[in-house]
Amino acid sequence: MNTQTLNKINILLALLALGVIGYLGYQNYTLNQTRIALEIELENTKQDFVSTTEKLSGDIEAFRNLLITTQGEKVTAEQETRRQQELLDGMTNTLGLYQKLATTDRELLAKYSKVYFLNELYTPKLSITIPTSYTLEPEKEKMISAEVWPFLKQMLDDAQATSTDLKIISAFRSFDTQSTLKSAYKVTFGSGASTFSADQGYSEHQLGTTVDFTTTKLGTNNLTFEKTSGYKWLTENAYKYGFILSYPKGNAYYIFEPWHWRFVGKGLALRLHDEGKNFYDLSQRDINEYLLTIFQH
Ligand SMILES: [Zn+2]
Repeated sequence: MNTQTLNKINILLALLALGVIGYLGYQNYTLNQTRIALEIELENTKQDFVSTTEKLSGDIEAFRNLLITTQGEKVTAEQETRRQQELLDGMTNTLGLYQKLATTDRELLAKYSKVYFLNELYTPKLSITIPTSYTLEPEKEKMISAEVWPFLKQMLDDAQATSTDLKIISAFRSFDTQSTLKSAYKVTFGSGASTFSADQGYSEHQLGTTVDFTTTKLGTNNLTFEKTSGYKWLTENAYKYGFILSYPKGNAYYIFEPWHWRFVGKGLALRLHDEGKNFYDLSQRDINEYLLTIFQH
């Protein structure tokens, strides 16, 4: 082997080593990001449970104090019973809240990002088929969470009453459908950042609480949806039915998607509307305050 060949081999080996180092570095970075997202989620959950537990122990403490004081005071038996009953009711309410919090689907109001997206096994609790009079392509079955449907139906009926042209072009998408779509995107845009960034919107569709709109006129090509009266109507009214625009113009998280609307419940949608804020701007902890009342009419 001559020196030139040896040099070539050395250069090749160096390049290979660099490649391996780079790949491992990237893997490490991705894993780190996921770990951080999971840690934040865990911390939020812990804090919620800690505050509920604290309230519960406060109630128990008050009840115990009452028992001690009533023993020393000259109160009638009737008064004592009533006060004890009131405290017991309070404790029962807190316990109910605790149980509800433990069984609430926290994903319903989760913020999704490039590092935190919905588990592939997740499916909505119960989904129903949207009647074809509300959808664009009647031959394609479109599903939505059964709990969200009454809100969506009311919104579309009210829009219809003002002769606003709105049709659902996409609703619940299973993880498999998303993967297929993602592969299609990969072919179009190539692999890399664009594939990752697509996860944000897809997770919301997998929840079964999110819909994409178009108009009869636009059909399947809804890229100019922003210019329609349907979009204008939604920006003025959707919050009254608990729907928000996940990715408005100029948001820092994802591309502007005028057609993509997510159900977050009337309480939270109203707050976002009144304060002129975006869903993704609020902290997850702030958002979680609305979990227990998300389906309240
Ligand atoms: Zn969408």
